Amino acid sequence: MVAMQFDVAQKPTASKKLFVHTFGCQMNEADTARMSELMARHGYARTPQPDDADLILLNTCAIREKSVQKVLSALGRYRQTKLERGALIGVGGCVGQQEKAQLLKRVPYLDFVFGPDALQKLPDIVRRAEEEGERVVETAWVDSEEYVFPRADPAEARGKVTAFVIAMKGCDNVCAFCVVPRTRGREVSRPVYDVLAEVADLVSVGVREVTLIGQNVNSYRGGCSFAELLRRVAAVNGIRRVRFTTSHPKDLSDDLIAAVGEMEEICPHFHLPVQSGSDRVLERMRREYTVDWYLARLKALRKARPGIAVTTDVIVGYPGETDDDFAKTLDLVAQARYENVYAFVYSARPHTLARLREKEWGVVPHSVKVERLERLNSLARSIAVEEMGRHLGGTSSVLVEGPSRTDPARRFGRTPENRVVNFDGDAAVGSVVDVRLLQATPNAFSGVQVAVKEELPCT
Ligand code: SF4
Repeated sequence: MVAMQFDVAQKPTASKKLFVHTFGCQMNEADTARMSELMARHGYARTPQPDDADLILLNTCAIREKSVQKVLSALGRYRQTKLERGALIGVGGCVGQQEKAQLLKRVPYLDFVFGPDALQKLPDIVRRAEEEGERVVETAWVDSEEYVFPRADPAEARGKVTAFVIAMKGCDNVCAFCVVPRTRGREVSRPVYDVLAEVADLVSVGVREVTLIGQNVNSYRGGCSFAELLRRVAAVNGIRRVRFTTSHPKDLSDDLIAAVGEMEEICPHFHLPVQSGSDRVLERMRREYTVDWYLARLKALRKARPGIAVTTDVIVGYPGETDDDFAKTLDLVAQARYENVYAFVYSARPHTLARLREKEWGVVPHSVKVERLERLNSLARSIAVEEMGRHLGGTSSVLVEGPSRTDPARRFGRTPENRVVNFDGDAAVGSVVDVRLLQATPNAFSGVQVAVKEELPCT
């Protein structure tokens, strides 16, 4: 594996406009940033308006139901821009990887399709489409040894407080419901020196917090363990906070728990997707852990880092899930006392084991799925409100990220536990402040700044 160096000198004056519609997860957000940086070096400036774009990219996600329909419907909206301005339109990401040339057949005005591994080829793909009128499909996997992780352009991060840093890509697991191994390929870890160099570059322009991302980030093997990577990133001069996502419970090692416990810079927030509270369902999901094992890991984590906030993902209505299985999920959620539960109704994904066996295991009726989802969300909300209520009246350390989205006169930031806080205050973006927490909703606190702990204006 080699690292692509970013050459600032190559950046020409922007003469064209690029609009990117990003679907899905933080990995896609990071990929969108890399696509934009690549195209900036070929004369494209980002625009928030599709109507004045010369190039429209859809960076897609295939993880949920109707993903292809969502992309088709977005493409329909951009068709007019193509007619009026002759804009090129391309589909990248997981739906591109999944559908390949099929998408070009279905959408006659679509110019090109490319998968996640073809990101580096984007300028050439655009050139071929523009100059040669070729309808390009680039969805081949790059060999692990050859894969080049795109390096973030630090100039684009100037003025930002937080940034995503890709630590690894792909997934070697075989969860029965998941399409990701087919759309993102085998796991490849980014070399540790490359991750550290990107973090140092980002810190040099004022970034204070990085989130290391990967489909299965804690199985990282880029020259050291994930625990060691975290320690080394947390030790980069000037970094204040390190987060990471997403972790698989089976890869939650003792060493990772120790790392989270020993370094203040590693944030006390752990997203640990459990998916179900029933061992029977977990086995059918091929998750490779039991509920008891998961809870024991959680206990060890909370012992190592008292007060750590834990969040999770749950799928309801998995094929064959009975009332009893679902009751066990509610029990687990009540025991684990998650700060947030991202609950989803099961939807069959193409080519997955769960889809192949859903008739044999038994399809859960849609009305039952929806009713279970409502019960789970209601329980999760009540726990979140109780947990957040425990912090009311106290103060919490907040990294100031910018103006509040709900009221631009206020500030917005997050606590180390990843709790969102909107507050009255005047600290510069990038500072760390103490905020008294006065009100809570399930999603955010409202408060008032009481002290500036560290004045860290962005450079
Ligand atoms: S760990 Fe499982 S759910 Fe997560 S990306 Fe891999 S296969 Fe999908």
